[in-house]
Amino acid sequence: MSLAEIRHWVFDMDGTLTLPVHDFPAIKRALEIPQEDDILLHLAALPADEAAAKHAWLLEHERELALGAQAAPGAVELVRALHGSGRRLGILTRNAHELALITLGAIGLGDCFLSEDILGRGEARPKPSPDGLQRLAARWQTVPARMLMVGDYRFDLECGRAAGTRTALVNLPDNPWPELTDWHAEDCAVLGRMAGVLA
Ligand SMILES: [Mg+2]
Repeated sequence: MSLAEIRHWVFDMDGTLTLPVHDFPAIKRALEIPQEDDILLHLAALPADEAAAKHAWLLEHERELALGAQAAPGAVELVRALHGSGRRLGILTRNAHELALITLGAIGLGDCFLSEDILGRGEARPKPSPDGLQRLAARWQTVPARMLMVGDYRFDLECGRAAGTRTALVNLPDNPWPELTDWHAEDCAVLGRMAGVLA
Protein backbone atom coordinates (compact mmCIF):
# COMPACT_ATOMS: atom_id res chain seq x y z
CA MET A 1 0.00 0.00 0.00
CA SER A 2 1.47 3.36 -1.00
CA LEU A 3 1.38 6.37 1.30
CA ALA A 4 -1.05 8.11 -1.07
CA GLU A 5 -3.52 5.22 -0.75
CA ILE A 6 -3.77 5.32 3.03
CA ARG A 7 -7.15 6.70 4.13
CA HIS A 8 -6.75 6.39 7.92
CA TRP A 9 -4.11 8.57 9.53
CA VAL A 10 -3.29 8.65 13.27
CA PHE A 11 -1.01 11.34 14.67
CA ASP A 12 0.98 11.62 17.83
CA MET A 13 0.43 15.18 19.09
CA ASP A 14 3.33 16.61 21.12
CA GLY A 15 6.43 17.12 19.00
CA THR A 16 4.61 15.82 15.90
CA LEU A 17 1.85 18.40 15.31
CA THR A 18 3.33 20.85 17.82
CA LEU A 19 6.79 22.12 18.56
CA PRO A 20 8.24 20.10 21.46
CA VAL A 21 7.86 21.98 24.73
CA HIS A 22 7.78 19.26 27.38
CA ASP A 23 10.88 19.36 29.55
CA PHE A 24 10.67 15.75 30.73
CA PRO A 25 13.80 15.85 32.95
CA ALA A 26 12.34 18.88 34.79
CA ILE A 27 8.94 17.19 35.17
CA LYS A 28 10.64 14.12 36.65
CA ARG A 29 12.62 16.23 39.08
CA ALA A 30 9.48 18.08 40.20
CA LEU A 31 7.58 14.82 40.73
CA GLU A 32 10.55 12.98 42.31
CA ILE A 33 10.59 10.40 39.52
CA PRO A 34 13.97 8.80 38.70
CA GLN A 35 15.28 10.14 35.39
CA GLU A 36 15.42 6.65 33.85
CA ASP A 37 11.76 5.87 34.69
CA ASP A 38 8.71 6.29 32.42
CA ILE A 39 6.50 9.02 33.96
CA LEU A 40 3.12 7.32 33.44
CA LEU A 41 4.34 3.87 34.49
CA HIS A 42 5.98 5.36 37.58
CA LEU A 43 2.79 7.18 38.62
CA ALA A 44 0.70 4.04 38.00
CA ALA A 45 2.80 2.12 40.55
CA LEU A 46 2.42 4.71 43.35
CA PRO A 47 -0.10 4.56 46.24
CA ALA A 48 -3.42 6.00 45.04
CA ASP A 49 -3.34 9.32 46.95
CA GLU A 50 0.23 10.13 45.93
CA ALA A 51 -0.49 9.17 42.32
CA ALA A 52 -3.60 11.38 42.28
CA ALA A 53 -1.69 14.39 43.63
CA LYS A 54 1.10 13.97 41.08
CA HIS A 55 -1.35 13.43 38.21
CA ALA A 56 -3.06 16.68 39.22
CA TRP A 57 0.27 18.53 39.17
CA LEU A 58 1.07 17.06 35.76
CA LEU A 59 -2.33 18.08 34.36
CA GLU A 60 -1.91 21.67 35.57
CA HIS A 61 1.63 21.90 34.20
CA GLU A 62 0.51 20.50 30.84
CA ARG A 63 -2.50 22.84 30.68
CA GLU A 64 -0.11 25.82 30.64
CA LEU A 65 1.86 24.22 27.82
CA ALA A 66 -1.32 23.40 25.86
CA LEU A 67 -2.57 26.99 25.93
CA GLY A 68 0.71 28.21 24.43
CA ALA A 69 1.14 25.39 21.91
CA GLN A 70 2.67 26.22 18.54
CA ALA A 71 2.30 24.16 15.37
CA ALA A 72 5.22 22.18 14.00
CA PRO A 73 6.35 23.11 10.45
CA GLY A 74 3.80 21.95 7.89
CA ALA A 75 1.52 20.31 10.47
CA VAL A 76 -1.48 22.58 9.95
CA GLU A 77 -1.18 22.42 6.16
CA LEU A 78 -0.89 18.61 6.18
CA VAL A 79 -3.81 17.97 8.53
CA ARG A 80 -6.03 20.48 6.69
CA ALA A 81 -5.20 18.86 3.32
CA LEU A 82 -5.88 15.35 4.65
CA HIS A 83 -9.13 16.49 6.26
CA GLY A 84 -10.17 18.25 3.08
CA SER A 85 -9.52 15.10 1.04
CA GLY A 86 -11.90 13.11 3.25
CA ARG A 87 -9.34 11.01 5.07
CA ARG A 88 -10.17 9.75 8.55
CA LEU A 89 -7.94 11.38 11.18
CA GLY A 90 -7.14 10.42 14.77
CA ILE A 91 -4.84 11.44 17.60
CA LEU A 92 -3.07 9.00 19.90
CA THR A 93 -1.27 10.84 22.67
CA ARG A 94 0.15 10.15 26.11
CA ASN A 95 -1.25 13.58 27.01
CA ALA A 96 -4.76 13.93 28.51
CA HIS A 97 -7.83 14.14 26.23
CA GLU A 98 -8.95 17.56 27.50
CA LEU A 99 -5.45 18.95 26.98
CA ALA A 100 -5.32 17.51 23.47
CA LEU A 101 -8.52 19.45 22.68
CA ILE A 102 -6.97 22.66 24.04
CA THR A 103 -3.73 22.08 22.14
CA LEU A 104 -5.42 21.33 18.81
CA GLY A 105 -7.59 24.42 19.24
CA ALA A 106 -4.53 26.55 20.02
CA ILE A 107 -2.81 25.57 16.75
CA GLY A 108 -5.99 25.98 14.69
CA LEU A 109 -6.86 22.32 14.08
CA GLY A 110 -9.77 21.95 16.49
CA ASP A 111 -12.24 21.19 13.68
CA CYS A 112 -10.22 18.48 11.93
CA PHE A 113 -10.61 15.69 14.51
CA LEU A 114 -13.72 14.18 16.07
CA SER A 115 -13.44 14.24 19.86
CA GLU A 116 -14.04 10.45 19.93
CA ASP A 117 -11.08 9.95 17.57
CA ILE A 118 -8.71 11.67 20.02
CA LEU A 119 -7.37 9.06 22.42
CA GLY A 120 -5.42 10.33 25.42
CA ARG A 121 -3.98 8.55 28.41
CA GLY A 122 -7.46 8.07 29.87
CA GLU A 123 -8.92 6.43 26.75
CA ALA A 124 -6.21 3.91 25.83
CA ARG A 125 -3.18 2.23 27.35
CA PRO A 126 -0.15 4.46 26.71
CA LYS A 127 2.11 3.93 23.70
CA PRO A 128 4.04 1.77 22.90
CA SER A 129 1.00 -0.40 23.69
CA PRO A 130 -0.96 -1.07 20.47
CA ASP A 131 -4.22 -0.58 22.41
CA GLY A 132 -5.08 2.90 21.06
CA LEU A 133 -4.50 1.96 17.41
CA GLN A 134 -6.57 -1.19 17.84
CA ARG A 135 -9.41 0.89 19.32
CA LEU A 136 -9.32 3.31 16.38
CA ALA A 137 -9.25 0.43 13.87
CA ALA A 138 -12.37 -1.00 15.50
CA ARG A 139 -14.07 2.43 15.60
CA TRP A 140 -13.28 3.04 11.96
CA GLN A 141 -14.20 -0.50 10.89
CA THR A 142 -10.85 -0.98 9.19
CA VAL A 143 -7.72 -3.04 9.85
CA PRO A 144 -4.37 -1.75 11.17
CA ALA A 145 -2.61 -2.71 7.92
CA ARG A 146 -4.63 0.04 6.18
CA MET A 147 -3.70 2.71 8.78
CA LEU A 148 -0.69 4.99 9.27
CA MET A 149 0.81 6.06 12.61
CA VAL A 150 2.74 9.34 12.39
CA GLY A 151 5.07 10.36 15.22
CA ASP A 152 8.35 11.89 16.30
CA TYR A 153 9.51 9.27 18.80
CA ARG A 154 10.25 5.57 19.01
CA PHE A 155 7.13 4.88 21.13
CA ASP A 156 4.98 6.02 18.18
CA LEU A 157 6.79 3.71 15.78
CA GLU A 158 6.82 0.76 18.21
CA CYS A 159 3.13 1.26 18.83
CA GLY A 160 2.48 1.11 15.08
CA ARG A 161 4.61 -1.98 14.65
CA ALA A 162 2.88 -3.70 17.59
CA ALA A 163 -0.57 -2.97 16.14
CA GLY A 164 0.46 -3.77 12.56
CA THR A 165 -0.06 -0.30 11.06
CA ARG A 166 2.33 1.44 8.70
CA THR A 167 4.60 4.03 10.38
CA ALA A 168 5.99 7.45 9.53
CA LEU A 169 8.64 9.38 11.45
CA VAL A 170 8.71 13.20 11.22
CA ASN A 171 10.60 16.14 12.69
CA LEU A 172 13.97 14.40 13.07
CA PRO A 173 16.63 15.13 10.43
CA ASP A 174 18.10 11.64 10.77
CA ASN A 175 16.21 8.44 11.48
CA PRO A 176 17.57 6.60 14.53
CA TRP A 177 14.99 3.78 14.13
CA PRO A 178 14.98 2.69 10.46
CA GLU A 179 13.82 -0.84 11.39
CA LEU A 180 10.62 0.63 12.86
CA THR A 181 9.92 3.13 10.07
CA ASP A 182 8.13 2.78 6.72
CA TRP A 183 8.41 6.45 5.76
CA HIS A 184 10.72 9.15 7.12
CA ALA A 185 10.13 12.83 6.38
CA GLU A 186 11.97 15.88 7.67
CA ASP A 187 8.64 17.45 8.66
CA CYS A 188 4.89 17.21 8.02
CA ALA A 189 5.08 19.34 4.86
CA VAL A 190 7.51 16.88 3.30
CA LEU A 191 5.32 13.96 4.38
CA GLY A 192 2.34 15.68 2.77
CA ARG A 193 4.23 15.98 -0.51
CA MET A 194 5.25 12.31 -0.29
CA ALA A 195 1.56 11.44 0.18
CA GLY A 196 0.53 13.65 -2.74
CA VAL A 197 -1.79 15.87 -0.67
CA LEU A 198 0.48 18.94 -0.59
CA ALA A 199 2.09 20.60 -3.60
MG1 LIG B 1 5.75 13.07 20.43
